[in-house]
Amino acid sequence: MRNIPHYINGARVEGTSGRTADVFNPATGEVQAQVPLANASELNAAIESAKKAQVAWGAANPQKRARVMMKFVDLLNRDMHKLAEMLSSEHGKTVPDAKGDVQRGLEVAEFCIGAPHLLKGEFTEGAGPGIDMHSVKQPLGVVAGITPFNFPAMIPMWKFCPAIACGNAFILKPSERDPSVPVMLAELMSEAGLPDGLLQVVHGDKEAVDGLLDHEDIMAIGFVGSTPIAEYVYTRGCANGKRVQCFGGAKNHMIIMPDADMDQAVDALIGAGYGAAGERCMAISVAVPVGEDTANRLMEKLTPRVENLKIAPYTAGDDADFGPLVTKEAHERVKGYIDAGVKEGATLAVDGREFKMQGYENGYFIGGCLFDNVTKDMSIYKEEIFGPVLSVVRAQDYEEGLDLAMSHEYGNGVAIFTRDGDTARDFAARINIGMVGINVPIPVPLAYYTFGGWKRSGFGDLNQHGPDAFKFYTRTKTITSRWPSGIKEGAEFSIPTMD
Ligand code: NAD
Repeated sequence: MRNIPHYINGARVEGTSGRTADVFNPATGEVQAQVPLANASELNAAIESAKKAQVAWGAANPQKRARVMMKFVDLLNRDMHKLAEMLSSEHGKTVPDAKGDVQRGLEVAEFCIGAPHLLKGEFTEGAGPGIDMHSVKQPLGVVAGITPFNFPAMIPMWKFCPAIACGNAFILKPSERDPSVPVMLAELMSEAGLPDGLLQVVHGDKEAVDGLLDHEDIMAIGFVGSTPIAEYVYTRGCANGKRVQCFGGAKNHMIIMPDADMDQAVDALIGAGYGAAGERCMAISVAVPVGEDTANRLMEKLTPRVENLKIAPYTAGDDADFGPLVTKEAHERVKGYIDAGVKEGATLAVDGREFKMQGYENGYFIGGCLFDNVTKDMSIYKEEIFGPVLSVVRAQDYEEGLDLAMSHEYGNGVAIFTRDGDTARDFAARINIGMVGINVPIPVPLAYYTFGGWKRSGFGDLNQHGPDAFKFYTRTKTITSRWPSGIKEGAEFSIPTMD
């Protein structure tokens, strides 16, 4: 049995708590490794060495930190396939999808190469007589990230790349369901020249998370995961005086206007609704055709496409639409939602519940499911399913479609498909959701924009990656200087006048 180590002070470290969790191969249902679950003393030791290492790193010039990111990008490209294979084996997603997971994180590392520019302060010459004023952005110290299972490469990199480029030390508590890739990433950061102790990977569950939330030396916490845990982490972290940003679950709508290109809309729904088995926070889980005719045309084209989705283990080649769900629990939860949808009166146009993958009968596979005539009061509409299940909610007109998306408690992503410029512009202006696609189903912002949901999809006032991350992981100090030419006889030195 493979034992996955923590990564502390530049070395692989065995767990000592005596508690472990099983890591499964979702395609076969077999336990393929064990991951240690850290206790408080293991966590404290990691934080202590991070704190020591951060002092010199925070004082290092930003070009030096940027050069580590530059080399890291090269190493990610070198090891792309190896990382993707490991990721697929623990998560279940296809290898091309896993490469996308690494690639999206790599792009954040690329953005962080700009740290010397992004960390520049401001300067005012002559703010008063003989007085100049300037601001500097300084690292916070030791910061932490708690990340979900569904992007085990990209989301850790969203967090640790900017944090480290800003001069912080970083404690990563990745998901215990697919923990190998985060350790591989930390090793690559060491190989890229990152001094020991600046990126620590500490595996664990609630005990480790609580340890981070309560530790006085953790200055900031970035969390990504489900909304109930996001809220918990936000509340407890803030109560402890930390800077906290938490990103949660989603229910992303795609409005299909009568003038939309229906083939394009159906293609988009296949990728966005079923890719990665729907285990994406930016997946489309609700399609809203506007008008009966649009709905009928949509169902006519979409139904056979969902029936013919290709499902396979990651080892079967690159052309599958999606693989298994991550765990047995996830499989049961998704099945439970489909049963509930049927009970609540939605029309199950495509039923994937009985799908069995030949030769992989113990894997966590489920077929694509398509519901029609879903209404606002149903659990399959209100809650995040996180599986390959798309709900069609029919709207009479544009305002009803807009209102549906606006009144949902989640606000991560949304899309509209239309050829009408005025409708698209009106939609983008009025919608109360953080990431908006116009004829783009998964509007994931590139690394140089910020990524973040609204409403119950995001807690905290700054978003992830892009310029916001450089604000989140630094604090600004403002310095007022009076030069000898500004010191007048008898002037009060400590309170410079600005006249
Ligand atoms: P999760 O909430 O179960 O776990 C996230 C992290 O929290 C993990 O590291 C886990 O170990 C930890 N955790 C779990 N239970 C905890 C508890 N009781 N106390 C403290 N920590 C706990 O989420 P998941 O299933 O790994 O990921 C899927 C969820 O993440 C979905 O809801 C998805 O929408 C969301 N997600 C959101 C974004 C975004 O940017 N908004 C991105 C990706 C995923």
